[in-house]
Amino acid sequence: MVLVREISNKKLSHIENKFHAKRSDAFNRCLTFKFTLAEFRRWYIDTPEVCVYCGINYEVFKKVREFAQGYIGYNKLIRRYKKLVFQTSKGLTIERFDDNQGYTPINIGKCCLHCQMLKNQAKEAGVTDIKEVIQIIRAKTKQLIVALFNEGFELQKEKK
Ligand SMILES: [Zn+2]
Repeated sequence: MVLVREISNKKLSHIENKFHAKRSDAFNRCLTFKFTLAEFRRWYIDTPEVCVYCGINYEVFKKVREFAQGYIGYNKLIRRYKKLVFQTSKGLTIERFDDNQGYTPINIGKCCLHCQMLKNQAKEAGVTDIKEVIQIIRAKTKQLIVALFNEGFELQKEKK
């Protein structure tokens, strides 16, 4: 377990900002918010920087983002992803699995932008069953990954 005192001040204030943003989001939507700042901090530090839906981690996300930003080809999926990552530079965001439930330890996870977009699209299309939503997210993510590799994306370590 990582001790709170081992976390940089920058990261701690980042987490604290998230805490306040999510708590006021919950307040505005009349949702429960079952975390104190200390509990939220603990949750955030203990939860890996990995998307709960597609499994991408922050390091890989940065590589995909960089590739997409420099992409000049015509693949529709990658062009859409490029647009998405230009709108926001955020990597992983906090996601509520069940939109009717608030911020509780079992209802939140870290999720990437792409999966969040796919989830919103599925909901807009009327898909309400979370298992079905997850299936759609996984299938579409797979399509994007195939497209990325077909278009020359590589996952090798950078030379130092
Ligand atoms: Zn994802």
